[in-house]
Amino acid sequence: MRTAIFPGSFDPVTNGHLDVIRRAAPLFDALVVAVLVNADKRGSFPVQQREEMLRRVTADLPNVRVENFSGLLVAFAGRCGAQVILRGLRGVEDFGYEGQMAQLNRGMSPGVQTLFMLTAPEYAHISSSRVREIAVLGGDIAPLVPVALRAEISATLRPQGR
Ligand code: ADP
Repeated sequence: MRTAIFPGSFDPVTNGHLDVIRRAAPLFDALVVAVLVNADKRGSFPVQQREEMLRRVTADLPNVRVENFSGLLVAFAGRCGAQVILRGLRGVEDFGYEGQMAQLNRGMSPGVQTLFMLTAPEYAHISSSRVREIAVLGGDIAPLVPVALRAEISATLRPQGR
């Protein structure tokens, strides 16, 4: 059983994340999208809402499941029986941080391989933080997030159209 985990904050999930998930899912028997519960950073969306949004947009992918985790990523990978940690790369600017994390995780758990998937160019400029900034200011997030989640994301970040 080849299992990969795709960890992140997903605060909220964007078209960039979903593109990676859709392209990676057929490469593994199981893909676990893992929402990090960070005790130091509450985030804009509660973890449960982030998970629910991810489940809605991946419902048609039978080998994808959504979970949350806290603590060390390699420990969670071990609990999942995952051999692969999948991360998305938008460009060279992501590489410094991602490379460092991959080396540290390799040191702690040499049996788990970090694989990088390069973003599709049309999503390379998208990040959850930009989505949040634009939505709070009442901008149009339609090109940035899955259609099914547009209304929910806008309403959560801009209650009563403030
Ligand atoms: P983190 O807080 O761990 O960086 P994110 O939720 O921002 O979590 O991202 C989760 C993963 O998705 C990371 O590997 C990140 O590089 C990747 N990612 C983020 N935005 C995009 C995008 N637009 N295209 C492809 N991958 C992306």
